[in-house]
Amino acid sequence: MRKKFIAGNWKMYKTVSEALDFAKDAKARLAGVTNVQVAIGAPYIALHDLAAAFQGSNIELAAQNCHWEKEGAFTGEISVGMLKELGCQHVIIAHSERRQYFGETNATANKKVKAALAAGLGVILCAGETLAEREAGKTFDVVKDHVLGSLEGISAEQMAHIVIAYEPVWAIGTGKVASPAQAQEVHAFIRGVLKGAWGDGVAGATRIQYGGSVKPDNVKELMAQPDIDGALVGGASLKPDSFEALVKF
Ligand code: PEP
Repeated sequence: MRKKFIAGNWKMYKTVSEALDFAKDAKARLAGVTNVQVAIGAPYIALHDLAAAFQGSNIELAAQNCHWEKEGAFTGEISVGMLKELGCQHVIIAHSERRQYFGETNATANKKVKAALAAGLGVILCAGETLAEREAGKTFDVVKDHVLGSLEGISAEQMAHIVIAYEPVWAIGTGKVASPAQAQEVHAFIRGVLKGAWGDGVAGATRIQYGGSVKPDNVKELMAQPDIDGALVGGASLKPDSFEALVKF
């Protein structure tokens, strides 16, 4: 049985003090939740203080990106070792906004995944098609390419630390959620891709989150789909009451 995993992705929202206000409220609201795994992907600047604020709670911490090198002359970048020391448990890799605005590719994602796993971080790996790709009938090809390209060289044992987030780009921040049937179709396809590459055990155990305009009023139906194992949520993760409603779907 795959435990559902609800993760917030705050993108470039919240100052440190705003993040801490959220943490205080959300900690109280989510106390005692054990049936769902919960994480917040926060901006780098808030990670240190949030790690302390979430201590002793059931809310885990994710970074939204990382660099693949241990250290070096990479101005503005953050290494996985730095994230680990800050108290992160996870890192989101290859979010479509990283692909769209910052040149992320399968090749860079793959280096980041390997670095994150080597540092003991869990990975939330994003994959998903644009509207043009969907309309051109390329959804399955694109998603397969993102998953296999970003996870090249990852062993079955390492896959235990990978969560995949299927995020159709046309549904992110647009209010256009994929229908439960549309999402389920791609999730089942991804599970098939995992089976082909790593076998039944990995395919059955790997969690596949859905992301794209998940809100309190559509989360339940999405989570009822057999191959949807959680959600990666942007906008609706920013307020404690809405985040609570998502976690307690
Ligand atoms: C995201 O940031 O990954 C996301 C899915 O955003 P939203 O929930 O706002 O569509």
